[in-house]
Amino acid sequence: MLLGAPGSGKGTQAERLAASLGVPAISTGELLRQAVARGTELGSRVAAILASGRLVDDELMADVVRDRLDQADAAGGFLLDGYPRTPSQAETLAGLLESAGKRLDSVVLLDVPEDVLVRRALARRREDDRDEVIRERLRIYREKTEPLIGFYEKQGLLVRIDGNRPMGEVTDGALAALRRN
Ligand code: AMP
Repeated sequence: MLLGAPGSGKGTQAERLAASLGVPAISTGELLRQAVARGTELGSRVAAILASGRLVDDELMADVVRDRLDQADAAGGFLLDGYPRTPSQAETLAGLLESAGKRLDSVVLLDVPEDVLVRRALARRREDDRDEVIRERLRIYREKTEPLIGFYEKQGLLVRIDGNRPMGEVTDGALAALRRN
């Protein structure tokens, strides 16, 4: 799985790494945005939350991830992008994987300094990238998601990658680290 702050390049790297590894990139943010765009029931439940930069609740996310991991293309492996995002989600994931006889191979942390994150997010300008939403997303990352770094470090799964480099170098660095693991 990939771990990193909003603006760390997680989505881009997830696509590139998944293509190299021959597994699907599973981006929960992307799944939720698609649900909103399609106007599904899930979409109508999460639209306002996405626009605010806050997190969708853990139970709803557990359903989204369980369904996605059950799909045939994930049977031979997958790259998770944007999940888990809270300690409770990490526990849920551990349970889901254990009951499926699977495990996480590695957790790749994309390390990017805060000022670079804000600059990148402003340049990207997705719909939920208004200034105050960017700051809210970063605040929530620090509060809820950053504790996962220690959680996975303790399990010996964490691989730290300098994400403040050209895109191709970050991908190569992550692939080399994944091979070593
Ligand atoms: P992302 O594309 O990963 O930045 O996700 C965009 C938005 O989707 C986030 O700001 C959250 O509102 C929501 N989201 C994505 N993944 C999760 C998750 N694992 N838990 C809760 N909310 C999520």
